[in-house]
Amino acid sequence: MQEFTLRSCFVLFSPIVMAAFKRRKVDSECRAFNEEWGEKYFFVEIKNQKATCVICTESVAVLKEDNLRHHYETKHLSTYLKLSGKFRTEKFESMKRVFESQKNLFGESLLKMNLSLVQVTK
Ligand SMILES: [Zn+2]
Repeated sequence: MQEFTLRSCFVLFSPIVMAAFKRRKVDSECRAFNEEWGEKYFFVEIKNQKATCVICTESVAVLKEDNLRHHYETKHLSTYLKLSGKFRTEKFESMKRVFESQKNLFGESLLKMNLSLVQVTK
């Protein structure tokens, strides 16, 4: 009798427990920058757990893949869709280098201006 009660309790609550566990796992994953997002969406991680787009230097306040993907798909997909494989890796690496050197030289406030100049003169 007791065993039956325990088992039915388990059956009843396990989906709830599983759902709660799953949700917590997703939440904690969202707070960390995933290295794959770099090449996938052209984002780099900067301090304060923010991600910045190396194409237009806009940052995304909430570190969630959905936000990064949305930014990339609405603003840059048409330009960068063609890039794949090692071309994509090379492009991302070179843009990241420009982004980082600009940031070190001019600080973040001037970064936007300088990068937009680079893009215009290209
Ligand atoms: Zn962008």
